[in-house]
Amino acid sequence: MPVAPVCRRFTLLLAALWAVGCHPVTVEQRQAVAAEKEGSPTMITLIEYSGDGQSLGPVQAAKLVLPDEEWRARLTPLAYSVTRHKGTEMAFTGKYDKHSSRGIYRCVACKTALFSSDSKFDSGTGWPSFWEPIAPQNVRSEMDHSFGSAREEILCSRCDSHLGHVFPDGPAPTGLRYCMNSAALEFSQAK
Ligand SMILES: [Zn+2]
Repeated sequence: MPVAPVCRRFTLLLAALWAVGCHPVTVEQRQAVAAEKEGSPTMITLIEYSGDGQSLGPVQAAKLVLPDEEWRARLTPLAYSVTRHKGTEMAFTGKYDKHSSRGIYRCVACKTALFSSDSKFDSGTGWPSFWEPIAPQNVRSEMDHSFGSAREEILCSRCDSHLGHVFPDGPAPTGLRYCMNSAALEFSQAK
């Protein structure tokens, strides 16, 4: 048997083992990384908001793709764990659970506007909850099958940070409950 194919198979096996041990990477993330390597960042359309929460309309933005060590350096340990490794802060410990000031909640990692205080409500769950995102373009969802259940995960559209999950048991007018981690958010007060 030729030596080369055996080596190749061994390399593939190592690659497979490495992949199993890592967090899943979405097709979108792979495309964004590949595009960045080729010098052409993936462009997306977001709705931009001013500091006092006024819509500035749609803007084209490059997806923010950084190496894991860069995210680790930029974020607090808790924010890094939640946003980059799909962690969950303990209920009733997040700084925005009982937060009721007027303003907008941005992504802690890339500052994209995500939620308005206008759609925040007290869900009693211990996590900040909203009945809709500030703009549908600014978040995206994926099915999450971890822990033996099917949940809809919510991520930041620009940097793919994990934010939390959405559930169909929220109040009117949407009937949705966007259950977020405070550690994934950064509040800016309306002026
Ligand atoms: Zn983000």
